[in-house]
Amino acid sequence: MKLTTANPFSGFEAFVTENEPLAPHTWYKIGGPARFFLRPRSLDELQQAAQRCAEENIRVYVLGLGANILVGDGGVDGAVFRLDHEHWRRAFFGTEGKVEVGAGVDMQKLVLRTVRQGLAGIECLAGIPGTIGGGVRMNAGGKFGDIGAVVTRVQVMDAAGHLFERTKDDLVFEYRSTNISAKFILGATLQLEEDDADRIMRRTKEIWMFKRNSQPLNTKNCGCIFKNPRGLSAGALIDQAGLKGFRVGGAEVSEKHANFIIAHPGCRADDVMKLVKIIREKVFEKNEIHLESEVQIWP
Ligand SMILES: Cc1cc2nc3c(=O)[nH]c(=O)nc-3n(C[C@H](O)[C@H](O)[C@H](O)COP(=O)(O)OP(=O)(O)OC[C@H]3O[C@@H](n4cnc5c(N)ncnc54)[C@H](O)[C@@H]3O)c2cc1C
Repeated sequence: MKLTTANPFSGFEAFVTENEPLAPHTWYKIGGPARFFLRPRSLDELQQAAQRCAEENIRVYVLGLGANILVGDGGVDGAVFRLDHEHWRRAFFGTEGKVEVGAGVDMQKLVLRTVRQGLAGIECLAGIPGTIGGGVRMNAGGKFGDIGAVVTRVQVMDAAGHLFERTKDDLVFEYRSTNISAKFILGATLQLEEDDADRIMRRTKEIWMFKRNSQPLNTKNCGCIFKNPRGLSAGALIDQAGLKGFRVGGAEVSEKHANFIIAHPGCRADDVMKLVKIIREKVFEKNEIHLESEVQIWP
């Protein structure tokens, strides 16, 4: 929907829409609209719009490919920024394995490009949908490694529009989290290793096959719903609680990987949220373990 006249983003109509359905912008394809949806085409536009949000007290959300987000059925009463313009999707291949990437770069496309160029280090991202912004924020990865291991520098912007750089010596990447507190990740520098392209391709394919065989990739989902408790597998705990295949409305615990909740046609975000609650209760009843969400729930 186009922006109406009296609104906090007057002057920004070229890149702001109102009441934008968020479902098509997420992997889950469920959930309500964003009050404001902003796709800035330059740093200047991003800074100005962020400053406007700060002045008007509008809550800010940043969306990547929406591969780790569950948007509630009521949507979000705030401003959702998406850095998907070409400006944010640039990748620059430097010398000795240094690669500079914008926040909007698609991780899967980048994996392929780096493999073809004989650069190793992000094969572990094969089969993990998302952007560099979302990948860095979540420290995307798994048993084969994570993106944090190759990040040497991150460009960030705070909610007021101030720019900063974070470098390797003060960056901490942990299991599905980082110490980056700034609202916006604008880009990152990765340090990759030169290696034989065929060898990297073989490893990438192996990782991809592992994902394909262990995760319900051809369904609507948002990856793992819960973080693994230290030394344990959330999927195994959910399985042991007898919940594989358990359904609430259109939401179902995957038979293939119990830490995935699949959204069937007609599923509502509320179905997923109810199922999340039931899983938490059952796992706690059986093991006295509290499962922490990996999925980011909006609002
Ligand atoms: C089929 C499937 C399999 C998956 N497997 C894995 C896996 O093996 N390992 C794994 O780690 N994850 C996995 N995921 C989850 C998801 O792919 C990752 O979390 C990914 O990093 C999300 O990236 P995104 O761009 O989609 O971010 P989004 O889902 O859009 O956002 C995730 C978080 O990052 C923030 N964010 C996004 N962009 C920016 C930015 N530019 N600046 C600041 N904050 C930002 C959002 O605000 C949100 O908090 C899987 C998901 C799916 C659907």
